[in-house]
Amino acid sequence: MALFDVYPLYDVEPVKAKGVYVFDKYKKRYLDLYGGHAVISIGHGHPTYKKALRQQLNRIGFYSNAIQNPLQHQLADEIIAQSCCENYQLFLCSTGAEANENALKLASFETGKSRVVAFKNAFHGRTSATVAATDNPNINAPLNAQHQVSFLEFNDLESLETTLKKGDVCAVIFEAIQGVGGLDEPTESFVVEMEKLCEQYGACLIADEVQSGFGRTGTFFAYQKFPIRPHVISMAKGMGNGFPIGGVLVRPDIKARYGMLGTTFGGNHLACRASLAVLEVLKKSQLQSHAKDMGDYFVENAKKMDKVKKIKGRGLMLGLEFDHEVGEIRKRLIYDHQIFTGGSSNKNLLRILPPLTIEKKHIDVFFDALKKCLT
Ligand code: PLP
Repeated sequence: MALFDVYPLYDVEPVKAKGVYVFDKYKKRYLDLYGGHAVISIGHGHPTYKKALRQQLNRIGFYSNAIQNPLQHQLADEIIAQSCCENYQLFLCSTGAEANENALKLASFETGKSRVVAFKNAFHGRTSATVAATDNPNINAPLNAQHQVSFLEFNDLESLETTLKKGDVCAVIFEAIQGVGGLDEPTESFVVEMEKLCEQYGACLIADEVQSGFGRTGTFFAYQKFPIRPHVISMAKGMGNGFPIGGVLVRPDIKARYGMLGTTFGGNHLACRASLAVLEVLKKSQLQSHAKDMGDYFVENAKKMDKVKKIKGRGLMLGLEFDHEVGEIRKRLIYDHQIFTGGSSNKNLLRILPPLTIEKKHIDVFFDALKKCLT
């Protein structure tokens, strides 16, 4: 075994994928309600996406950030148009952790401070500052413990103000819907007050949209359910439909300077083209509103099942909570019914993160299978 063995694996080997399905080497078809961890936004192997990448590869696949790349400008214009984040500026990188690492770094440059406020059960990545802001001691090495992070409960304004008052906080980072942590959400009044407190005490507000962004929850970014304008918005997963690309949108009052941020691979031609194709399909097929409609249909069905104790999330970032662990159900869904689902740090929660192209008939198939798994 030459691989560094860090992933517990299901015994399935996908070799092909199309739309909402993946196929294993025995040609067995699996319904993908996991989207490779919320990554597949416009569906596997979308023709627009394949054509765009093929054409780009025939022109130029990569050059460094030392040259002009008009695709980056095109991508910035399109993200800003679709997200309505007027006047924000885009910095491109390659992963979700890198996006958050850059977001935190920007906040620290901007404020001259170094403490981060994050929330209980948060997941922001596995790199230096992001893993320190992730509420999981098991994945933090002693090296990461050098960062100053305060973990607070969602909706606890008093603790937030007490922490911000000390004057050393550069950033408050939050997920509008927690992903890995199990789909908890802060209240609107908390988020609105959190923004005000950040302004008052000179801290940057960072919306981590790595998992929830790009239309998944029915708005372009999940935080847009609330009337706020974060200093920095990080994104990745659905942005490239599987092509590694991430980015941060930076509010116009934060000014760039040469050398402040940088990367070799971020914003390369192929990555920009992949994300432009995603945005084209999102718009043409109205996948954002489709995600909302399919989410509503899913919830309607889930409400009919008494064994489901709680339904969490919105759009196509959903969770079903039971009063027992879901590990066995996930196994049965894969091996007996050929359906991929997700787990979370809440062991009782089944996570649903399908491609945004999913249809009612696929949701019906899932609920039929789930009923069988629960009897
Ligand atoms: N932030 C959130 C909310 C995530 O869900 C994840 C990954 O699951 C990350 C950041 C890290 O992204 P990546 O794995 O691309 O580094």
